Amino acid sequence: MSIARRVLTVLLAVVAACDSSSRPRAHGPNVILICMDTVRADHVGWNGYTKHATTPRLDRLAAEALVFADATATAGSTRPSVPSFLTGTYPLQHGLYGREGDHVAPLADEANTLAEAFDAAGWHTGAFVYNPQLARGNGFEQGFRTWQDQQADAQSIRTRAEAWLDELPDDEPFFLYLHFLDAHWPYPIPEAYATKFADAAAVAPFQGPDSWALITAIGTQERPTSEAELDGLRALYDGGIRYIDDQLALFFDELERDGEWKDTVVCVLADHGEEFMEHGRIGHGHGLWENLLRVPWIVRVPGAAPERVDVPVSLVDVFPTLLSAAGVPVPSTNEGIDRLHDRTTRTPIFAELKEEQSYQQALRSGEHKLVRRLRRAAGPDPNSPFKREEIAEMVRHGTGPAPRVFDLAEDPGEHDAKQGHELAPELEKALDGFGKELLKRVRYREGERRELDAAEVERLRQLGY
Ligand SMILES: [Zn+2]
Repeated sequence: MSIARRVLTVLLAVVAACDSSSRPRAHGPNVILICMDTVRADHVGWNGYTKHATTPRLDRLAAEALVFADATATAGSTRPSVPSFLTGTYPLQHGLYGREGDHVAPLADEANTLAEAFDAAGWHTGAFVYNPQLARGNGFEQGFRTWQDQQADAQSIRTRAEAWLDELPDDEPFFLYLHFLDAHWPYPIPEAYATKFADAAAVAPFQGPDSWALITAIGTQERPTSEAELDGLRALYDGGIRYIDDQLALFFDELERDGEWKDTVVCVLADHGEEFMEHGRIGHGHGLWENLLRVPWIVRVPGAAPERVDVPVSLVDVFPTLLSAAGVPVPSTNEGIDRLHDRTTRTPIFAELKEEQSYQQALRSGEHKLVRRLRRAAGPDPNSPFKREEIAEMVRHGTGPAPRVFDLAEDPGEHDAKQGHELAPELEKALDGFGKELLKRVRYREGERRELDAAEVERLRQLGY
C-alpha cells in the first residue's frame, strides 16, 4: 500500500470513529459479493458443465467478467472458508474451523473484514445471508450496518436485498453480500426446480430433512448405491443451483432498470464444493479433496475486458481484489493478491481441515498436491476442544503419518495417492515454511469461545453439521 493510501485509511478510520452514524462521502462503484454455498467448480456452465443448464444467467455474466478457472477455497466447509474471503486470511490465522460439541469460536472483533473496509470508506453495507453458521454472534456481521440471516430461500433473499437497495440514496455506493443455501442439503427449493433435471421419483428420496437417514446410510456405505441413484441427487443439487441463477437473473434485471448495473462490480463464488461418493462420502467438510475445495469464482468489473485466468488462485485473494476494484484502500492485514492487477503470480494453494484429534493440511504447487495429517499431542484431556494455539503448535512441531502426494495432471480424481513420492520432501518443506510464515502474521487473539444454545445446535444439525 502506498503512503498516501495508508494516510487515507487512517483518516477514514478516524472519521468513522468520530461519528459512526455518518459516513465520509464515497465515490466508487457498488460491489456485490455473492456466495452460492456448496456449489462445485465443475457444476457451473462457464467452467464447462453441460449435463444440466445450471447457470444460464451467470454464464452471461462470466462472458463479461474475469473468470478464475482454477480457484480454491481455504477449507471444505462454511465456517473456516467464509471468514477467509471476508478477511483475506487463512483458518490458521483467523482461528475458525468447526463446531466443537456445543461451542464455537467466532471471528474476533479485531479481524479486519471487507465490510469494515467498505463501511470506513463510506459505502453502505448490507448482507442478506442464510446458513446457521453465519448467524449473528459468529462475527461475520462485522462492518455490515444491515445484517439479515434468518432462514430464507433464494427468492426471499433477493426480494429483501431489493427492498434494502430501494431505500438507499441513488448516488451513494453500496457493498452487498448475498449468501444462498439452496444448493445445500436438504435442498428446500420449489418443486419446479427440484424436478427440473430429473423426475420426482429420482429426486424425492434426497430432499427434505427425512432424507438424512438415506444420505447417511449411503455415505457410510452401509447401504449400496448406484450411479443412477446418485444422478437423482446430482439433479436435485443442480436444480438448487439453477434456482439461485434464476433469482439472480431477476435481481440483475432490477439493477439494470434502476440504472445501477453499469456501476456495479459483481463477484460470484462458492465457499466450498460437495462430494457425491467420489471418495466414498456424500456432503462436505470431511476432507481436502479437490471436489470439496475447487470453487467457481468470477468478478465482473464495469469497463474491464473479460479474461479467463488459469493461474491457480485462492479465495483469500477475494479480499484485496474487491477492495481494489472499488478503489478502496486495502488493509495490509490480508494474505491475498489483488487479482484485478496481478493475474500471473503463483502462490502455493493452501487448505486446512481440523478433525477431532488431528489436523490436515493440503498444499498444491503446480500439478502436485501434498496432503498430510498432523497428530494432536497427547494432552491431559483428549476430549477438550483444541484451539488455534494448539494447531499452531502442531504446525511448528507436529508429527504424523507420511504425507500423500497426488499428481493432479495424471490423476485429477485423486484416486492414486503416492506415499514416498520423490517430490514429497520438497513439498513438505514448502508447506512447513508456508504455515510458519502465516503464523508469524497472526494479528489478533482467537475469538472468545461461546456456547451454542439448544436451538442453534438443532438448526446446525438439521443441515447435517
Ligand atoms: Zn458452506
